[in-house]
Parts: sequence; C-alpha cells; structure tokens
Amino acid sequence: MNEPETVDVVVVGLGPGGEYAAQKLAEAGLDVVGVERGLVGGECPFYGCIPSKMMIRAADALAESRRAATLAGEVEVRPDWALVADRIDTQATNHWDDSSHVTRLEEAGVRIVRGHGCLDGPGRVVVTTDVGKRTFVAARGVLLNVGTAPAVPPVEGLAGTPYWTNREAVRLTALPRSLAVLGGGPIGVELAQAFARFGVEITVVEVAERILGPAEPEASEIVTGVFEREGITVLTGTGVARVEYQAGFRLVLEDGRSVESEQLLVATGRRLNLDGLGLESVGVDPAAKKVETDDRQRAGERLWAVGDITGHGQFTHVSMYQAEIAVADILGQDGPRADYRGLSWVTFTDPEVAAVGMTEQQARDAGLRVVTGRADIPESSRGWIHQAGNEGVIKVVADAERGVLVGATVVAPYGGEVLGLLSTAVHAEVPVATLRRMHFAYPTFHRAVESALGDLGDV
Ligand SMILES: Cc1cc2nc3c(=O)[nH]c(=O)nc-3n(C[C@H](O)[C@H](O)[C@H](O)COP(=O)(O)OP(=O)(O)OC[C@H]3O[C@@H](n4cnc5c(N)ncnc54)[C@H](O)[C@@H]3O)c2cc1C
Repeated sequence: MNEPETVDVVVVGLGPGGEYAAQKLAEAGLDVVGVERGLVGGECPFYGCIPSKMMIRAADALAESRRAATLAGEVEVRPDWALVADRIDTQATNHWDDSSHVTRLEEAGVRIVRGHGCLDGPGRVVVTTDVGKRTFVAARGVLLNVGTAPAVPPVEGLAGTPYWTNREAVRLTALPRSLAVLGGGPIGVELAQAFARFGVEITVVEVAERILGPAEPEASEIVTGVFEREGITVLTGTGVARVEYQAGFRLVLEDGRSVESEQLLVATGRRLNLDGLGLESVGVDPAAKKVETDDRQRAGERLWAVGDITGHGQFTHVSMYQAEIAVADILGQDGPRADYRGLSWVTFTDPEVAAVGMTEQQARDAGLRVVTGRADIPESSRGWIHQAGNEGVIKVVADAERGVLVGATVVAPYGGEVLGLLSTAVHAEVPVATLRRMHFAYPTFHRAVESALGDLGDV
C-alpha cells in the first residue's frame, strides 16, 4: 500500500545544490526527504570537478618537472597513472561510495530515499525504489536538483562502441596509447591535456571553428598554441561523419580526414536529466532546454529548481549559490535574489582560463559602449620571471558609459586565482578609476591587471 507521506520539503536529486539545501532546511527544523537515484553528492565529487582536478594537479606536476630543465636542471620524470587512480579511488570518491555524504545529511536530519523521483502534481513526488513506490506530499514544496548526464551525439556507428564519457575517464586504472577526444569544450580540453601530459597521444576534434568556443577568442588561441606545442593535435571546424570500431577507433571526419586511436572520449556537452521527471504534471515543458526560474529559484507552484537544469552555467558554485537563495525563500525569509552579472568560471587547463561577466562580443551585443584593455602575461613582471609555462593574457571589458568593468578574462598560471580581484570588480561595479589607484603587489601575476586597466585608455 503506497499511503502518501506528508513532509515539509522533498529535494529531488542530491547534487551539490540539492545536498546543500536539504542539509540547511533540515538544520532549520523542517522535515526533509532527499531523493537520489545515483550517488548522493552528484556529478561533481564522483565524476566531475574533484576527480578531474586531481588528474590535472598530477599532470601539472609533471609539466612543471619537465620545465625544470630550462630553469634548474634536468629532472627525470616517469609518469605513473596508478598514483592518480589511487588518489581518485581512495581520497576523492571513497571507491565511489557516498556514505560520507549520506551520514552528513542524516546527521542534519534529512531522510534519504533511494530511487527515481517523479513529480505528480504540485507538491507531490512519487519515488520508484527497489521495493516499490512511495508517494510524498511536500507541504512547503519540492526542490529540483536533477542535474545532467553526458550528451552523446547521434553519430553513425558510435552507439554500441566502447567509447568513454567523463564517467569512465575518471575511473581509469591504466591509460590507452592514444585517445581521440570528441568535443573541445571545458571537459574535453581539461582531460585532453591531463592525459597528454601522462604520455597519451591526443587528438581533439571540435566542430566549431575554435576550442573553448564561449571564451574570448584570445583564450582559445593561447590554449590551442600551448596544446600544439605539447604535441596535442587540435582539429577544428569539422564534425565526425562516422565512427568505426574494430579493436580501436577510426573517426571519419566531415572534411574527409580521419583519426585513428585506441580509445575515444566523448565530451560533447551535457543532457538535462528531465526525462521521466513528471514536469508536465506541474505545467513545466519537459522538452524545454532549461527549467525556467525566477530570481528566488521558483519554478512553479510550490516548486524550486537549482543547478545545471536552470541554464545559468553548469558549475558547482552556481548550483550552491542558487541553493542558498532557494533555502531562504523556502524558509520564508526575504533573502538574496539571483544575479548573474558577475558569474565567474574557470577551465583548468594550463594555463588556466578564467572569466567573469561578459566577453567583449557579449558586451557589444548588449549595446554597451565597449572599451577593452589587454596585458600579455609573458611581458608582465611575474610572467617574465616565471618564463617556462608563462603563456597568457589578461583582457578587461569596460562599459565606458559607466566607467566600470563588465567582464574580464585571465589566461595565466593560477588564472583562476588572479580572477578573484576582477570578479569583485565586476560584481561590485568598482569604478575603473578606483581600481587604477589600487596597490598591485610586485611582482605578482595579478599585477598585470594594472597594465590591462592602463590599456583601457580614458575610461
Ligand atoms: C568532468 C567534469 C568536470 C567538471 N568540473 C567542474 C569544475 O571544475 N568546476 C565546476 O564548477 N563545475 C564543474 N563541473 C560541473 C559540475 O559537476 C556540475 O555543475 C555540478 O555537479 C552541479 O550539478 P547539479 O547541482 O545540477 O547536479 P548534479 O551534480 O548533476 O547531480 C544531480 C543528481 O540528481 C540525481 N537525479 C537525477 N534525476 C533524478 C531523479 N529523477 N530522481 C532522483 N535523483 C535524480 C542524479 O543521480 C545526480 O546525483 C564538471 C563536470 C564534469 C562532468
């Protein structure tokens, strides 16, 4: 008998935002049920950010050791993937076991129900578990945090081959000799460079004219140059017409060329987990490209949504930022409202590509009076001292009308850290005149921000 159980809040999907919200709501005294069909914690800790950044940390250590030859003397480097695989297995994912996440939530008072959650009208969720169905009626409402899964394009011959996505790539215990990477977005390029530094022969195939398409063109150009110098082949402006598999992969490209590799990594974006979620029962279009939310994360009657499905950037920090807003609203507090003008992100290639706010093109499309400033990292004091591995640029985008920055991109060693001050500038709309009168410690990478601001002319 599936008697409906009444609770305060049901959180469907426990990715970073759902996990955070469930814990905070339970700590505030609400009766919270968290529904999860996979691993509690979601993509980031088990298949995304954390394992991939451990791979990158190891790969960067190799690259830095190799650079020692020009700065300090020969270093013998013998890459050992087993160290990375072990660290991901034991430290990052606890053998892909989510019990530490579960314990934290249960200690806060959250009841976890394992299974697939499906909306059944406003405030109602039916969960299909291993032992049958359970229905919950959520008096305050339902929070959706169902996230994404790897999107696999309908390329002829691909289905049924043993290709990898990020889910397999983070679980490798041994590396292939060669790897074709389909997709030159953040996931594809991060993993491509990490594997290349461990000696895998890499070819990246990107259908757009450049890798890292949404970033400033200067960033794509620098990363492409670094990749080519590191021996990574980058093929852009062509899709894959056909995939053949027989002990190894052969990609037949639309422009007639072909790529042969032992393995294939598909990194062509993400698909929203909206199938079978019952969105139509609450008046939301299940075929939409995102779940529309207002600035309090409300998505409908007694319905909130956070994370990748909201279309504001597929990043852990966005999911958690939105969760905090949703929690305040669910608790009836007059909390903060969502604001994405100062949204920042980092692609952890080496050099890192970090950006905040608008690109130059986005600012022009928005009709602003745009002025840009640029400083090349190799010519900066710290970049010149750093030497090996100093590729990069800082680009700032100003609205000359208001005298503030509306966007910035940093391509540099530790670019994500350098971005911090520019994020503050964009978020708080600090006047360019004020920024110019800051002290920029010598000789830091962030000191190049001063040169980029100087290059803006009379803003
Ligand atoms: C390789 C890789 C590297 C990344 N690196 C970074 C990075 O460096 N920085 C960064 O900010 N972001 C990174 N991301 C993105 C980041 O992982 C996501 O943005 C983040 O996980 C937030 O997603 P989310 O909150 O929407 O939910 P997700 O993490 O996608 O979790 C959603 C959860 O909902 C569950 N679920 C789905 N449907 C149902 C249902 N009907 N019923 C019950 N449960 C359901 C799923 O099992 C899953 O556990 C990376 C992603 C990948 C793949």
